[in-house]
Amino acid sequence: MSDGGEGAGGVRRIVIVGGGTAGWMSAAYLARKLSHLPISITVVDSAAIGTVGVGEATVPAIRDFLAAVELGEPDVLAATEGTIKYGIRFVDWGGPGHSFFHPFGLYGVPARGVAFHHYWLKMRAAGHDLPLSRYCVATQLAERGLFLPPTDRPVNDLGVFNFALHFDASKFAAMLRRLSVANGVEHIDAQIEDFDRDPENGRLVAVRTADGQTIAGDLWVDCSGFRSLLLGEAMAVPFVDWQHWLPCDRAIALPCRAAGPHKPMTTATARPAGWQWHIPLQHRVGNGHVYCSAFMSDEDAERTLRDNLEGEVIAEPNRLRFATGHRARFWEGNVVGVGLSAGFLEPLESTSIVLIQSALERLVALFPAHDMDPRLATTYNRQSLLEFERLRDFLVLHYLRNRRIGEPFWDAMREIALPHGLQERIDAWQAGGEFVRREWDTFQDPSWLSMYAGFGDLPDRHHPLADQFGVAELTDSFDRMRAAIDATLRHAEPHADFIKRHRAAAA
Ligand code: FAD
Repeated sequence: MSDGGEGAGGVRRIVIVGGGTAGWMSAAYLARKLSHLPISITVVDSAAIGTVGVGEATVPAIRDFLAAVELGEPDVLAATEGTIKYGIRFVDWGGPGHSFFHPFGLYGVPARGVAFHHYWLKMRAAGHDLPLSRYCVATQLAERGLFLPPTDRPVNDLGVFNFALHFDASKFAAMLRRLSVANGVEHIDAQIEDFDRDPENGRLVAVRTADGQTIAGDLWVDCSGFRSLLLGEAMAVPFVDWQHWLPCDRAIALPCRAAGPHKPMTTATARPAGWQWHIPLQHRVGNGHVYCSAFMSDEDAERTLRDNLEGEVIAEPNRLRFATGHRARFWEGNVVGVGLSAGFLEPLESTSIVLIQSALERLVALFPAHDMDPRLATTYNRQSLLEFERLRDFLVLHYLRNRRIGEPFWDAMREIALPHGLQERIDAWQAGGEFVRREWDTFQDPSWLSMYAGFGDLPDRHHPLADQFGVAELTDSFDRMRAAIDATLRHAEPHADFIKRHRAAAA
């Protein structure tokens, strides 16, 4: 870190508590972004406590994070046994044998200012049952097991898609740790036992460790995981529980050997009281069963998972308990919670890592360079809450629209009282196929479309302007779109070959 130049007002020492994914992402990011300021960064974590050890699927924003910390994607894929993800396949959520795909990409091409899905709805109404998945490159790449990098200059919306990564979370954290330490971040392995707060302004001044150290800081980044050591315990910020909307509260993770090459996608398969993830990596498959303890015992949950693995188990089960919700304030005094310490939304759409990333971007944008102006925290808290709420609503929709009739957990999920914002979105969709767009939405129109269409929840009407084309003209144009996608796919290579090539290059 630089030790000269323009000062950062009150903040000279940033202390990050926790060395899991959140802690090392924070260290790597802040070390890069604040490198021109005379600020020291220290990470304090405890090897004796360990990390949650899960979190292997991401969303495309991870690519922006890697670029921001100047890590190359090929290096990350090699160091973390990573693979490509074009989206998530949801299996059996709409009933046994039913599945659909949530892609990282657009569907079809709009025409004369009318979104593609209105033409698609019109064609369906005219009796043409055209699978939506045929009009999305990302979905086709995933389903056909192919890899193609997105282009910077797509000819039209058909060329707009992106990918995310699957990786081994512990290898990713280790990679970020090496990078951070190389960039001047200090690392202390010690267990924090106590805190000193300023009696006048309530700010956190120092933490005290089991081995007798006192570590002082000006700005604290709490990455201590579910325990929320600084934000929850030291600053006494209460937890806002959202389990009445998202009641799954336990998970078992159990990696196994792969039975063969995998497609570039995460799979989320519905189970009697929750769902099971399948995340293909180069050296193993990450599996986990997320379930609701009010509807299933731990023993049954573990049995269900073990009965549905594709290969030999290669580790002991990792049993996790969690609550969906967030701290009432994400930034309190001079403490900012990042990662699980700030809140958690169950991993159905792999959104925790992107929440870490946006928290860091927000912290840098609102950095308290001159003093701890409470208005910065107010803005930060407002934006963070909106982002959490938007994601929550998207997750609730997955459960709400299930068609697993006669299973108590799923029957109950179809009846839950909806958050207000979600009800508005559903009403707009059902009334005329419109999407409500809101500030801090992580998932945009195509994601919502994939859900509604995936569950067969379609409005009776399309936009009246879609009638400016007749069915014959639309049939032609839909044929051309499929042909254009097929032409694009001819430039792709098998995902397994892409990974093999990268492995060989890294070796
Ligand atoms: P942790 O990994 O728990 O790290 C906490 C750190 O704090 C540790 O280093 C620990 O040593 C330190 N610490 C705690 N107490 C003390 C103390 N007293 N003194 C010193 N140090 C201390 N996210 C995704 O984006 N994609 C996914 O697919 C995904 N799947 C998930 C599945 C499940 C079942 C769960 C529960 C989470 C999942 N997540 C996922 C979330 C993801 O795992 C976390 O967001 C990510 O690992 C960050 O965790 P963390 O660093 O906040 O906390």
